[in-house]
Amino acid sequence: MEATISKSAEARAAVTEAIAAQNSICLTCSFQAEDMVALHLVREHLPKVPVLFLETGYHFDEVYKYRDAMTARYDLNLVNVMPERTVAEQEAQFGVLYQTQPDQCCKLRKVGPLFNALENYDVWFTGLRRVQSPTRANLQVFDTFPLPSGKKLSKVSILADWSDKDVWDFAKQADIPLLPLYQAGYTSIGCEPCTALPADPGNARSGRWAGRKLECGIHIAEGH
Ligand code: SF4
Repeated sequence: MEATISKSAEARAAVTEAIAAQNSICLTCSFQAEDMVALHLVREHLPKVPVLFLETGYHFDEVYKYRDAMTARYDLNLVNVMPERTVAEQEAQFGVLYQTQPDQCCKLRKVGPLFNALENYDVWFTGLRRVQSPTRANLQVFDTFPLPSGKKLSKVSILADWSDKDVWDFAKQADIPLLPLYQAGYTSIGCEPCTALPADPGNARSGRWAGRKLECGIHIAEGH
């Protein structure tokens, strides 16, 4: 618990530094545990921070119920980031892309809509952590993220060096209820068709996309 107290002090300092000179600030939230902890820490300074949720239309019912319960509990400034097409429109036009071309599905339902939404902000808080994936091993607390338009955001991942235990200890200490799907054994939770129980108990994200890919793309700048 001592480690969590020290890390939460560092995370709080990063929040203070990031918001000091900026007005347009948002946080992306999948309503997973680390995002709820990051949200808690940012809301200590910015109770009405826009909370961007990628509303792909493919989430678990449990996620929608939890999102709505947490929005009511904390009076969140929830922003549902919507794709251009409904699920029905996309499937009528392109078929079931999450089966045939998951990269394209993520591009249409997550990456494009998020990058458009981020045009409205200068600072982007995330709950990303290095231990989540090899693709996140070099994650920095403070980073610069270029949007396709050329605009550059300050991307702040205040939990970059947090372990799973740090997150769970903090959530317990702060009395943050967590998504019930964790109790069913899920360790990383995204869209329902692309989320399974972890294939490798040592790799929390091994249940995502059945191992076909590691990231949806929202944390990868174009051209990188
Ligand atoms: S995670 Fe799956 S369902 Fe969700 S946008 Fe990506 S491919 Fe589509």
